[in-house]
Amino acid sequence: MPQDDPTITAADREALRDLCRRFVSQEITPHIDAWEAAREFPRALYARAGALGLLGLGFPEEYGGTPGDHRSMIVLVEEFMQAASGGLIAGLLSHGIGLPPIVHFGSDALKARLVPPILRGELISALAITEPSGGSDVANLKTTARRDGDDYVVNGSKIFITSGMRADVITTAVRTGGPGIGGISLLAIEGTSAGLSRTPLEKMGWSCSDTAALYFDECRVPAANLLGVENHGFMGIMRNFNGERLMLAAMAVAASQVCLDEAVAYARIRETFGKPLIRRQVIRHKLVDMATRIHAARAFLTDIATRVDHGDLPVAEVCMLKNAATQCYEACADQAVQILGGAGYMRGTKVERLYRETKVLSIGGGAEEIMKELAARQLGW
Ligand SMILES: Cc1cc2nc3c(=O)[nH]c(=O)nc-3n(C[C@H](O)[C@H](O)[C@H](O)COP(=O)(O)OP(=O)(O)OC[C@H]3O[C@@H](n4cnc5c(N)ncnc54)[C@H](O)[C@@H]3O)c2cc1C
Repeated sequence: MPQDDPTITAADREALRDLCRRFVSQEITPHIDAWEAAREFPRALYARAGALGLLGLGFPEEYGGTPGDHRSMIVLVEEFMQAASGGLIAGLLSHGIGLPPIVHFGSDALKARLVPPILRGELISALAITEPSGGSDVANLKTTARRDGDDYVVNGSKIFITSGMRADVITTAVRTGGPGIGGISLLAIEGTSAGLSRTPLEKMGWSCSDTAALYFDECRVPAANLLGVENHGFMGIMRNFNGERLMLAAMAVAASQVCLDEAVAYARIRETFGKPLIRRQVIRHKLVDMATRIHAARAFLTDIATRVDHGDLPVAEVCMLKNAATQCYEACADQAVQILGGAGYMRGTKVERLYRETKVLSIGGGAEEIMKELAARQLGW
């Protein structure tokens, strides 16, 4: 997750845009359809992105990070979304949700050992909060970790975990104490730990990202892998959610723009009844409605990202932004498929893939209903 850095300029972000654009057009776009069909992208892509400093964006330079703030991350997401695969972004950047708790709360020794190889793309990082008994009610999570000598012994399971199959380091929420938010801790669980097993899950969209169920059966984790103070993990989880929600909103706005661009391009070349679609008022109005929504969502996104970059933590607004951006995306994907007609329903068009990907953004990282509840509570209603 990016950190505050007032020295980052608009020129820096444009240089980042050029770098990402070249990387995506050369290394992702030519292969993305095959990766989506294969339901995975090559592990080597992490190292390629790491070598360019893209995985390190916003992480501390002392651990191999690259200067960047939330607005830099938005640029990166916009360019990566040109390949029209949210799954690629979610998988390649799963350290964006897995790593911040290690950076913020891990011991110096743990950070020195884990953070640099993750930012180089040599190790893969994931975040495991959600459980089969429910993801929205985080305070009620059931996976336990009991202290035994120099280890914690973990029992329980996690579900829907992005990069869960191939993650080398899994930042995992566990119950170390009593019920409720006061009994939750975060552990960095390494993929080689005895007692950890995993199974892959099939999804509606985000096909090339791996998603897994994790099982912990008397899984031993060194106590040195505790992130922060025992039983004080809940606030770390909530803080992490804010960064995740901002990035999911960025993905939604970027994907909306791709839908609009694809719809405009198609409407220009597709002729019906002797005229291009774009000459029909009903089509032009659909396009303007899409553009209007995108302008509003992007302005909201930029405003919140700028505030967060200046040290503000507008929790209610981040929740509302996530909903506004995902609703914008749902509307734009729907209209884009409609404008492409039958072609929009076929595998191989960007809008078909993006249409299938809309739903995950209004569920993952905190579902739409939960965002509204949290916003209302934050506003004192
Ligand atoms: C592709 C994908 C990737 C994911 N990646 C990760 C990951 O990397 N790590 C991770 O930890 N999790 C991950 N998740 C899980 C995701 O965060 C959860 O699915 C989400 O938080 C919702 O939890 P749930 O699915 O258990 O739904 P539930 O909590 O069971 O909720 C079901 C529905 O009921 C609604 N609801 C719940 N409570 C209330 C209420 N009180 N009032 C009104 N409505 C309510 C919810 O909004 C939702 O619509 C991923 C999910 C998906 C689909």
